[in-house]
Amino acid sequence: MDKKRRDFLKVAGATTLAGLGGPAIVERLVSGSSPVQAKAAHGERLAGHGADTHAGAAGHGEETVKSGNRFGMIVDLRKFKQYPELIEKVVHACHAEHNVPHFPTRKDEIKWIWPTEYEKAFTEHSQYYKDKPTISNEVLVLCNHCDEPPCVKACPTRATFKNKDGIVAMDYHRCIGCRFCMAACPYGARSFNWLDPRVGLDMNHINRYFPTRMRGVVEKCNFCAERIGLGKKPKCVEVCGETRAMIFGNLNDPNSEIRKALKENYTIQRKPSAGTHPSVFYIV
Ligand code: SF4
Ligand code: SF4
Ligand code: SF4
Repeated sequence: MDKKRRDFLKVAGATTLAGLGGPAIVERLVSGSSPVQAKAAHGERLAGHGADTHAGAAGHGEETVKSGNRFGMIVDLRKFKQYPELIEKVVHACHAEHNVPHFPTRKDEIKWIWPTEYEKAFTEHSQYYKDKPTISNEVLVLCNHCDEPPCVKACPTRATFKNKDGIVAMDYHRCIGCRFCMAACPYGARSFNWLDPRVGLDMNHINRYFPTRMRGVVEKCNFCAERIGLGKKPKCVEVCGETRAMIFGNLNDPNSEIRKALKENYTIQRKPSAGTHPSVFYIV
């Protein structure tokens, strides 16, 4: 086998694992634990982690040091207002990176990140007397990688699970297409492949380092687990560049950029009353 092909297979293998949940699957393979043992260990981690992060989600200004990673994101709507072209750039970059198919009809649409109206994004926040520029702002929405994710609880096959970095990941091969997770998600963050997703892709220009999906499977934003695993930033954060319209980092690290930004800015989250403790915050 020539070196180029060997290198490709090495990266493809790593990124496929990452796409399927990355660190959690690697962890299971390396530790050699059975799914049951892994589930128990995962459950213990969740219990400890959840207890830690409840306070964090309620009051992110705290300086407590928490164990493990919990990745989160800030979307700065002021920056998107300043650079409106960024919205399309971000959506395109994410969808190209993850081979998200394009279908023109709304019912067939697959979305990992997309713009929506302010009122629809923040249904629980009063819009009375808000200034027009704020309300007319388009808001980028994506999976919130909730700390208490109802989609995980609803999934009968563990195709959806929370990994050790707090990322709500998916194993597409375990997905049976029951769509319980879609019904459970209060944010409509998941899409179902009614059609063969490969039909909605230009197969000559797909990202060969990320798996395409199949018909009958659910998908959503994976917080770029495959990139995080390689020490890169999420693609959306990368394309925002110096504008810092999107900030990503470890919410459990009091010295991280995201914690600093949360301390310095007033942020809101989507549907806080759902009790899901989203890991995505908005500066409005
Ligand atoms: S936003 Fe929806 S899909 Fe994402 S973790 Fe929360 S409940 Fe699950
Ligand atoms: S559609 Fe797939 S990911 Fe969603 S609950 Fe069913 S098996 Fe789990
Ligand atoms: S974190 Fe990655 S998968 Fe999620 S919206 Fe950004 S680019 Fe897409």
